[in-house]
Amino acid sequence: MARQGDTLLPTTDTLRCWTTNGLPSYRFRLLGGCAGLQHAVFTRLGGVSSAPFASLNVSYDTQDAAGKVRENLRRVRAAMGSASLVYARQIHGGTLLALHERAPVDPEIPYPLEGVDGFVSSVPRLTMMVKVADCQGVLLFDPKRRVAAAVHAGWRGSVQNIVGKAVRLMAAEFQCRPADVIAGISPSLGPCCAEFRNWRHELPERFLPYQVRPTYFDFWAISRVQLTEAGVPGENIEIAGLCTRCHPDVFYSYRGEGRTGRFAVTIGVEE
Ligand SMILES: [Zn+2]
Repeated sequence: MARQGDTLLPTTDTLRCWTTNGLPSYRFRLLGGCAGLQHAVFTRLGGVSSAPFASLNVSYDTQDAAGKVRENLRRVRAAMGSASLVYARQIHGGTLLALHERAPVDPEIPYPLEGVDGFVSSVPRLTMMVKVADCQGVLLFDPKRRVAAAVHAGWRGSVQNIVGKAVRLMAAEFQCRPADVIAGISPSLGPCCAEFRNWRHELPERFLPYQVRPTYFDFWAISRVQLTEAGVPGENIEIAGLCTRCHPDVFYSYRGEGRTGRFAVTIGVEE
């Protein structure tokens, strides 16, 4: 059972707080208003992992005990009420997978899918998950075609415009109109903390307008622009506006903590 209005979590105008089976999470205001859609931004709270991975770590690539990660994944899937949960070993690449049928998932194999940084699907009761700790989890949904997407977008993903790729994949594989797409950008490294001392080598010149002060960049604005350039209307895009590094009690932050877990950002179409 989901309960609305938990005041435990810091929040913003674009987010609503929920508790499902004792697991706190956020929902975006716009995506939360879409019938037939389940989505959530989980936090680091409500799981079984010990420090420094405490507690709802969903990544096997963190030196956390595999059994604890498995239990955390089970809790996420149960909270989503889904038949299956699909995720992959992410590599900060630009590869997205279009799922037209339920992918076989064996919980004994940590990563049946390698090198995938996002999913697009219309399969009911299939929850797609990306794992983040400063990177953006970007959720997309076309309520007309009933197609959803979950994208892992770190700075390398932003350089490859992976969010624009996801919108184009929705159009190419599922006949979505970008003008119908609704987007949510998860809590992630904010302009307050996104420092790139080697930005001249790491970031393309086209990111320069998003430099907010020397060596700091606004990747939330970069994703918003990449989505609008792909055809998503600006009023359909919500940014969570919470910086992971500034809220280490609630989120994992790779920059802030180094050895830490990953939290789950999930979406899936209902039956
Ligand atoms: Zn910050």
